[in-house]
Amino acid sequence: MANARLKVALLIVSTTAAKDPSTDASEAALSSVLEEEGDGRWELVDTKIVPDVVTQIQQQLKLWTDAESDYINLVLTTGGTGFAVADNTPEAVSALIVKPAPGLVHGMLAASLNVTPFAMMSRPVAGIRNKSIIITLPGSPKGARENLQAVLKTLPHACLQAAGMDSRSLHAGGIKKLEAEAGIKSSGGHSHSHDHHHHDHGSSHPPGHTHSHGHGHSHGHGHLVRHTAPNSNPMSNDPSLGPSRRNRESPYPMLSVDDALGKIKEHTPQPEVVTLKVDTSLPGHVLAEDVRARENVPAFRASIVDGYAVVVPSDGNLKGVFPVVSVSHASPGEVKPLKEGEIARITTGAPLPPGATSVIMVEDTILKTMTDDGKEEKEVEILADNVKEGENIREVGSDIKTGTVILNKGEQISAVGGEIGLLAAVGVAEVKAYRKPVIGVLSTGDEIVQHDRPGDLRLGEVRDTNRITLMTAAKECGYEVVDLGIAADKPGTLEETLRDALRRVDFIITTGGVSMGELDLLKPTIERSLGGTIHFGRVAMKPGKPTTFATVPVKDNGGRRVTKVMFSLPGNPASAIVTFHLFVLPSLHQLSGVSPAGLTRVPVTLTHDFAPDRTRPEYHRAIVSAGGDGELLAASTGGQRSSRVGSLRGANCLLCVPSGEEPLKKGSKVDALLMGGIRSGR
Ligand code: AMP
Ligand code: MG
Repeated sequence: MANARLKVALLIVSTTAAKDPSTDASEAALSSVLEEEGDGRWELVDTKIVPDVVTQIQQQLKLWTDAESDYINLVLTTGGTGFAVADNTPEAVSALIVKPAPGLVHGMLAASLNVTPFAMMSRPVAGIRNKSIIITLPGSPKGARENLQAVLKTLPHACLQAAGMDSRSLHAGGIKKLEAEAGIKSSGGHSHSHDHHHHDHGSSHPPGHTHSHGHGHSHGHGHLVRHTAPNSNPMSNDPSLGPSRRNRESPYPMLSVDDALGKIKEHTPQPEVVTLKVDTSLPGHVLAEDVRARENVPAFRASIVDGYAVVVPSDGNLKGVFPVVSVSHASPGEVKPLKEGEIARITTGAPLPPGATSVIMVEDTILKTMTDDGKEEKEVEILADNVKEGENIREVGSDIKTGTVILNKGEQISAVGGEIGLLAAVGVAEVKAYRKPVIGVLSTGDEIVQHDRPGDLRLGEVRDTNRITLMTAAKECGYEVVDLGIAADKPGTLEETLRDALRRVDFIITTGGVSMGELDLLKPTIERSLGGTIHFGRVAMKPGKPTTFATVPVKDNGGRRVTKVMFSLPGNPASAIVTFHLFVLPSLHQLSGVSPAGLTRVPVTLTHDFAPDRTRPEYHRAIVSAGGDGELLAASTGGQRSSRVGSLRGANCLLCVPSGEEPLKKGSKVDALLMGGIRSGR
């Protein structure tokens, strides 16, 4: 292990480079340092670019540092370390670092200060997360280069130690040997503090190094709990600390509904393209390609009517008696050619005999003679003159020509049948479409029992209302659903259930456990145990305030890194359904390529007064129906308490009632988000 190549990943933090990667010069600068001065120890295995957005920086870093086996030894970031408003890389990294490494920070600053006093304008941090070392470098290629050069020689050793290599064997031969191996020289007294550092594993810092804290501020918050929970994020409660130590107010910022929807859009992964069979399971899918006709429709010249195929003479006059020489039915097979003066009986949709130029409807003919056995027509009289070529014939490709685009990328295959019919008609048996996520639904709570458990409830028990409701809603929206059951409010149980679920499904919906009680374990489990990122944990709305949206990095069955989406909805049944439609659905839509994502918004007229909430916008469960003149009318379903399941009964919309003091008067107009079809009001 000591001599294996160490893996390096580079994160370019730059809003400019994120838009136009060609503007980045740091990657070239840093990879040449690694190559030329790295003694063959380093392999740059991944480079990613993200804008100056804390969550995006953290998400990428976690993917590199949180994998159990395939982790990166050294993660370098470049950019975002200055004093500008947008510079926040050190803050993003600090929150992830479990063991700060102020020595590395000091080394970088000392070297840069030798070059320019402006090095004071850089705010580097460095440290260990899991088995990886993370170091922030400045954004200027020159500064980044100098900083990396300053610490590079010590890093193989540091990385090996961070990765858990036995420090006794690493240290055999003492610090002098290490220095010699690294090709660096100590200047006198320094070697002592190095020594100290090596054996002390960072529990205290060597004297003389303390001043680097001012630059590093990579420790401090959360350090207290991190020695027990390495991946912890300072935001959620540490369940092991008990009720007296929990946050007494939610540490998550309260987002507006629009901002929450913005986060969902930003962090829901883009849809994955798959090849699907054209069959009855295709409806609901969105096409990921323009689809062209593989064949002409019709594929052969076909009759539009029941009648007689003829060869039209030059004068168009077909009056007279003709022998019936053949019959063409709508069935595959050879058809005999037709000559002028002969006719062939033909049925609707049957192929024209070669040579035939028109079809006379049976209504324009008279049967003249029959075969001897009386079973077949022998001669037929035609009563038509002025007949033109091509009459009553569907020409090859006259409905759809081979190669024409019949459906566009982004179009959704409906269950009405139109699109499936088109695909079937032109011989398209497979299409590229966006994969629909498989959704797992989990209820949480010690009090929750199976909805159909026989017998009366014991004191405190509550029948599981949410799981069956959400599974039904998700299924109705066209998604495959996996029942994840009920999880007890115990940290281990919840973590195990979710880990197992992350292996089985793409998308998890949980309910309960997101309030402020000490047994509300969802948020800490997502952040602390699963290494997920909570993008929001509180929304200014009624009902549904504690709605939580997170993404969790995991490896799929093929070993690829993927991001799975998790919604933790409030436990109150009305809140759960409202937030499913308002927040979960847009995420599902984005994941499956449906655009525009989310419920359809229409203006409606109130049929009675509505009392708004004073501080929070309300999503009022209501029934929209079409009035006599086509106007859409909305009436409340009644009591809107978030625990009241009945407030959803019959509801087909969520009325967007803005917060305010004054009642909304009967007859006024507000927006409604449609959850179901509109009924006739009459
Ligand atoms: P919680 O978010 O866990 O604090 O739950 C809030 C309320 O919703 C409590 O009264 C719970 O008992 C109730 N609740 C939670 N989950 C469910 C469920 N699956 N079905 C019905 N009620 C629930
Ligand atoms: Mg609960």
